[in-house]
Amino acid sequence: MKFCTSCGSEVGKQVPEGDDRERFVCLSCELIHYTNPRVIVGCLPIFEDKVLLCKRAIEPRKNYWTLPAGFMENGETTADGAARETWEEARGRVSNMELYRIFDVPYISQVYMFYRCDLDRGEFGVGPESLETDLYTEAEIPWDEIAFPVVYETLREYFADRPGNRYPVRVSAIEPGSWRKRKSG
Ligand code: ZN
Repeated sequence: MKFCTSCGSEVGKQVPEGDDRERFVCLSCELIHYTNPRVIVGCLPIFEDKVLLCKRAIEPRKNYWTLPAGFMENGETTADGAARETWEEARGRVSNMELYRIFDVPYISQVYMFYRCDLDRGEFGVGPESLETDLYTEAEIPWDEIAFPVVYETLREYFADRPGNRYPVRVSAIEPGSWRKRKSG
């Protein structure tokens, strides 16, 4: 960051009074520019014994399969955001949303939240960020073409939980190049 978003003057890195880390602070109007982690919200949409996946039309990981997910917008709940992303990417409406999986990814300052939910009437389409979308059984899932570790892990856990019909919420942290399970519900 070089310039203040409020007055356009130069910013410098300083530890504000009472704070414990460096922030970009405007050298003119003294506005402190905080940056905080971003929340990615997504769905695990289920219809009968199948899960809805989207093939990405955009980078990163274009041509790989993912669950519908994206950055949370201002003014919405995490569940609303996850449902919105499912509409935008797969033209599916969802209901009975249950929080299922949280991933902390501190090294890139992101948090992922996935909701388990029903895909209403099994209806879906293809949104502008997807090349194609489809419902997959466990055996049909293209496991070698999954876009992100968080999606792979969420799918694996879902199919492991399903026979017992118990879906505890799990939280874990992802570190560069490794998986570290912090806590299981
Ligand atoms: Zn300023």
